[in-house]
Amino acid sequence: MADIQSLLATNERISRDLLAKNADQIDQSRKFPRENVQALGKAGLFGLLVPPQYGGSGATLADMSKVIEAQAENCASTAMVMLMHYCSSAAIAAKGENAMKERLLPPIARGEHLTTLAFSEAGSGGHFYMPVSEVRMNGVQKRLTASKSFVTSAGEADSYVVSTRKAGASGPTDVNLYVLPKGATGFTTAGHFEGLGLAGNASGPMKLEDVAIEDSTRLGPEGSGFQSMLEVVLPHFQIGVASVSLGIATAAFHTITAHVGARKYEHAGGAALASIPRVQFLEAEMAVELNSSQAYLGETIRKALGGDPAAMIDVLGVKVKAADACLAVVSRAMTLGGGWAFGRRGGLERMFRDAQAASVMAPASDVLKDFIGKACLGLPLF
Ligand SMILES: Cc1cc2nc3c(=O)[nH]c(=O)nc-3n(C[C@H](O)[C@H](O)[C@H](O)COP(=O)(O)OP(=O)(O)OC[C@H]3O[C@@H](n4cnc5c(N)ncnc54)[C@H](O)[C@@H]3O)c2cc1C
Repeated sequence: MADIQSLLATNERISRDLLAKNADQIDQSRKFPRENVQALGKAGLFGLLVPPQYGGSGATLADMSKVIEAQAENCASTAMVMLMHYCSSAAIAAKGENAMKERLLPPIARGEHLTTLAFSEAGSGGHFYMPVSEVRMNGVQKRLTASKSFVTSAGEADSYVVSTRKAGASGPTDVNLYVLPKGATGFTTAGHFEGLGLAGNASGPMKLEDVAIEDSTRLGPEGSGFQSMLEVVLPHFQIGVASVSLGIATAAFHTITAHVGARKYEHAGGAALASIPRVQFLEAEMAVELNSSQAYLGETIRKALGGDPAAMIDVLGVKVKAADACLAVVSRAMTLGGGWAFGRRGGLERMFRDAQAASVMAPASDVLKDFIGKACLGLPLF
């Protein structure tokens, strides 16, 4: 088990050397970033959030944010695969029974087991915390038929944290989470999305057809799934998606800053694009967006780790802010990149497409604003 500082340094090195090298090829081929993911796993990064007693690093949300941001700066598809793995492994570590933890966490820590979340269903869309599928009793046996609309690492991950209403649920939040292995009978991928961005993260629908459900695969007590989503998955997901957005925005900012300095005009005696006041103005706008969002992310993490009761509003808000900032930065970078960026050079066009995912990934920015507004007004969220 590596100490956290050396793990962060290793993550930066792999991100810079390997993820950056493969990013365009992954985007164009739309292939799952297997080489990147394997290298990260081998280096101990699958076990980032796994407690040390199971061979992991027991890292915090702050460490996870740094890891994801560095990955996203170089390959956002890989960062999203890793983020879903972190959300899922955190849920297993926090809510799994001892036998499950002993079975799953050591192989995760060794980099041999990739996991992910299978929450979203077409029937509830972005309101992923309210699945419409429900466990049915067949005699004494529990069975599940469900249509999961959007799963990162679909068919690639070794296990899936699946949400569904418990048998005989009294309402849409009467939910269980189960950890199902890849290849469970009746559990299959159902095609791919040709997503606008994050082309390599193997997002796609999955189907569960009359899958046998064992109680031993459940996370937490019966009916506790909704609470687990809010307590464990949501903070990791929100802070992680914000980190992906800031990684993309940082890469776009550095790329365009280098370009406007290097782009020279013969007709103007070799003056650089950077010498034009409007370009400097856009550069300033990008820097302000990026720096203020980074400060908000740092403050949110500080509050969340300190158990501040006011953290929840920021945990909801930080994904909205980072997604908006990222869109603002990449669209200005595309403008300043002109034909060079439009011609798919420098990777800006890929970053522009990758940046679009964060605001629609559930909870979408609009849904989050709905929650934040209600919370500010003291109204119930659900
Ligand atoms: C790249 C990517 C990877 C993903 N990976 C996973 C994964 O690994 N696991 C997983 O479970 N899911 C995953 N998802 C699914 C994701 O989290 C959402 O569930 C999905 O994108 C929601 O899509 P939808 O079209 O059904 O949204 P809809 O529910 O149709 O919402 C569409 C829009 O309607 C508006 N809207 C809806 N409800 C409200 C409201 N209450 N208030 C205000 N506005 C509202 C919002 O603008 C929203 O964006 C992924 C999605 C993407 C894009």
